[in-house]
Amino acid sequence: MDEKKVGLSDTTKAKTEPKTFRRNPIVGTKFTIAISSAKGGVGKSTFASNLALALKKMDLSVGLLDADIYGPSLPKLFSINEKPESDGQKLKPILKYGIQCMSIGFLTEEQTPMIWRGPMVISAIKTFTQKVLWKDLDFLIVDMPPGTGDTQLTFAQEINMDGVIIISTPQEIALQDVKRGIRMFDKLKVKILGLIDNMSHFIGDDGKKYAIFGEGGVKKTAEEFKKDFMGEIPIDPEVGKQGDLGSPIVESKPDHEISKKYFKFAEKIKSIYLLD
Ligand code: ADP
Repeated sequence: MDEKKVGLSDTTKAKTEPKTFRRNPIVGTKFTIAISSAKGGVGKSTFASNLALALKKMDLSVGLLDADIYGPSLPKLFSINEKPESDGQKLKPILKYGIQCMSIGFLTEEQTPMIWRGPMVISAIKTFTQKVLWKDLDFLIVDMPPGTGDTQLTFAQEINMDGVIIISTPQEIALQDVKRGIRMFDKLKVKILGLIDNMSHFIGDDGKKYAIFGEGGVKKTAEEFKKDFMGEIPIDPEVGKQGDLGSPIVESKPDHEISKKYFKFAEKIKSIYLLD
């Protein structure tokens, strides 16, 4: 089990002793990669699901954990309506598109009020890390809750993550939160693999490029914090459409230009962790 010291920023160092976290490795997987965003609605779940599908199509064994307690997306994105079976001790992930899937959304009714979900966070983390029968995975992709609040912090502290990818749109308001997210992962000593600029621009029917949310902000933020800028994904209505149909674009249209981008990201992840 990893025991990692957490360095605090200079301003707080004097006041607080560095803390030590004991993180739980997830049994049944070689590498756990978290997909994070500072804000909701920037395309984190879309990225997580398409990245998982791209890795799977590259013949890797992949799991997808939707850890967003407040807004689970996986049931809809993968069109999964069944409940996971239990062997009495552990939950079996649901196999869809060749991917081992788990989501709080499989366990609760869609209508479960938010106020009941708060106290469920800790037990959900325990269930996800210790009580799911992940089997022989090369990669477990974790779709983290958005933000840098308690839920996200607890996940970052509890789960032994090998790396995190941060998704953002180029909007100034999103970038402010991204910076907070970067600082949090740095403090927690979770390796930031890089930043992705999602919905970076839109190419109109006239062939012109429209920077709807502004331009270059994610790359600039990556440079400012000396993190890798992994690339951009433009706005394409097909991405949303296929997600809504329950079969993300990499699954339904693997030859689409946008799918090729996800394959490139998957190649990168593979090359970072698996040397072949
Ligand atoms: P989050 O997980 O950050 O809340 P989602 O993945 O649910 O965000 O995406 C929010 C919305 O944006 C969804 O409707 C999704 O289909 C859409 N979306 C995400 N990425 C793109 C993209 N590159 N082009 C077009 N629509 C996108």
